[in-house]
Amino acid sequence: MRIDLHTHSTASDGTDGPARLVRAAARAGLDVVALTDHDTTSGWDEAAAALPPGLRLVRGMEMSCTGRGEDGAPVAVHLLAYLFDPQDPVFVAELERLRGERVSRIRAMGTRMAEDGLPIDVDAVLVQAGPAAGRPHLARALVEAGVVPTVSDAFTELLSPRGRYYVPKADTPLVDAVKLVTAAGGVPVVAHARARARGRLLALDQIEELAELGLGGVEADHPDHSEEDARTMKDLARGLGLIVTGSSDYHGDNKDVMLGRFTTAPEAYEALVDRASGVEVIAG
Ligand code: AMP
Ligand code: ZN
Ligand code: FE
Ligand code: FE
Repeated sequence: MRIDLHTHSTASDGTDGPARLVRAAARAGLDVVALTDHDTTSGWDEAAAALPPGLRLVRGMEMSCTGRGEDGAPVAVHLLAYLFDPQDPVFVAELERLRGERVSRIRAMGTRMAEDGLPIDVDAVLVQAGPAAGRPHLARALVEAGVVPTVSDAFTELLSPRGRYYVPKADTPLVDAVKLVTAAGGVPVVAHARARARGRLLALDQIEELAELGLGGVEADHPDHSEEDARTMKDLARGLGLIVTGSSDYHGDNKDVMLGRFTTAPEAYEALVDRASGVEVIAG
């Protein structure tokens, strides 16, 4: 069984539509794929309707959170959420707030760029991006305008927290997010906790605290983790009784990573499904 539990579609900052993504997942030889767009479930129905025979769909999301950094200061953390009830009213309200933050922050970043004379039409970027707008949408616009050669250059030169145009957004406190996902019947899993290229790192002792509040697992095998990082996460998970996942974090053409680049063990997948009570896995 080949299981990839972290992918993005055009519902957030991937470049494949949800239908195209599940077809690509089947072609890549996957047996299970999770759709985990940032702060939205809007791709779920299209992915489910297009599911090829033999492929299973885990409906999920990647939530934008704020945790405690190794230095004690707040740090951006991504929390994967699997198989939760997408109609849970408290959770729905928080996700709407998060998407509002996304749109106003991309508007603020794009406006700063335009004021500086960069050829960015922020209204057009937002129309194209939709409600889960993110920095990769600005990055693509910068590439298309010829400002930078690649999406990843846009990040290093302009969009990173150290860059000139960065505007922060108010994400969900990680502790609250774990409780919200759990209360909606879902399984929360901390994503790529050692991805140091993205900036400062989460304090690992916060993961211990979250384990007592309902955290289900941690992502260990991931393109932004070294082998040592993955081992660190696996050792931590073993000590705390957490599920270990592996995934590609596929973003279509926005990143240089193929579907199934890293995968999750079948036993870990079964444990995750057993723990969830929001929605079912869909079989194609
Ligand atoms: P945002 O959600 O707007 O804060 O943008 C963060 C997203 O940008 C991440 O989830 C990644 O998908 C993407 N990203 C972050 N750093 C890079 C990078 N160096 N190159 C390409 N994409 C990146
Ligand atoms: Zn993304
Ligand atoms: Fe992420
Ligand atoms: Fe992701």
